[in-house]
Amino acid sequence: MRRKTKLIHGGIFGDPHTGAVSVPIYQVSTYKQEAVGKFNGFEYSRTGNPTRHALEELIKELENGEAGFAFGSGMAAITAVVMLFNSGDHIVLTDDVYGGTYRVMTKVLNRFGIESTFVDSSDLTKVEAAIQPNTKAIFIETPTNPLLKITDIEAASQLAKKHSLLTIVDNTFSTPYWQNPITQGADIVLHSATKYLGGHSDVVAGLVVVNSKKLAEDLHFVQNSTGGVLGPQDSWLLMRGIKTLGIRMEETEENTKKLVDFLQDHSSVEKVFYPGLETHPNHEIAKRQAGGFGGMISFDVGSAEKADQLLSKLKYFTLAESLGAVESLISVPARMTHASIPVERRAELGITEGLVRISVGLEDVEDLIEDLQQALA
Ligand SMILES: *Cc1c(COP(=O)(O)O)cnc(C)c1O
Repeated sequence: MRRKTKLIHGGIFGDPHTGAVSVPIYQVSTYKQEAVGKFNGFEYSRTGNPTRHALEELIKELENGEAGFAFGSGMAAITAVVMLFNSGDHIVLTDDVYGGTYRVMTKVLNRFGIESTFVDSSDLTKVEAAIQPNTKAIFIETPTNPLLKITDIEAASQLAKKHSLLTIVDNTFSTPYWQNPITQGADIVLHSATKYLGGHSDVVAGLVVVNSKKLAEDLHFVQNSTGGVLGPQDSWLLMRGIKTLGIRMEETEENTKKLVDFLQDHSSVEKVFYPGLETHPNHEIAKRQAGGFGGMISFDVGSAEKADQLLSKLKYFTLAESLGAVESLISVPARMTHASIPVERRAELGITEGLVRISVGLEDVEDLIEDLQQALA
């Protein structure tokens, strides 16, 4: 099956009982047992629900893994994955991971004895140097947010194997349409499905795919024990969103390239961050490991005041956190998505006050360019 076909025919197609071409929403908590302990596949919806199961089968196939899991948010998915580890274990993470990942590792999971070190994973010598005797995993996000740094997934996975560590990849920005970390050696891939997979700013969800039966058993145990599952309505909405992921990602790619060209040539823009630029330090790796560069662009307008001026004049870019939706979104990472990261750390990372991030939507690109042009003028 080719990629766009898989988005539509992957997982479980429709409903075998009625012929409905869309998987029904099984709005149910429990299931009748034929005799004590004799179930017809499902027993209780925290453990398993047919609509959620269809979504979990779909994401498993899209990421070429062994099993898929759906959670109530990206953060619930990340937390469940980290709960595979024990008190005293250590994880090495990409330094500019999603702000919420940084927060849960340093303010919540640290209280349960899970240790973490954050390094620039686009330089694997730094990752290797951070490995300790109690390290159990490397957690990378690529491309990152908001500076769009790239980590070589295959090389990171090889490094992890050499030290008997798991490789975990947050694949939210690329989506399985452009990038399949498990195929490149990763053990666990996860998504904030709130973003491109849902694609319409109408659902909060998280997905995880693992590459082995052992990890599948362990993660199902955590999912069922801690209970952060996705409900049937939201599972259905996600499947609907995923059907059009291919055309959305293709169109987003086209729009993004044109916007990057425009921003690169604009005198009020000091710097543009986008992995598709040949001047991007890891452009070659991005090109090799992903089929597309994605729809995220960051650019520096020089100061917080200039960023505010720009925001106040835009018509089609909605000021909002989040990304990956049909509508173009704009944000100022230092005061929004990355506000939970301490000031000194933001400075270290290069997340300046004038840095603006856009998530390119599916509007006519001419309208988007004209809008930016008048706002930057
Ligand atoms: C949004 C996001 C998350 C968190 O997902 P939620 O669905 O908001 O809980 C994790 N990782 C990345 C890269 C994200 O963009």
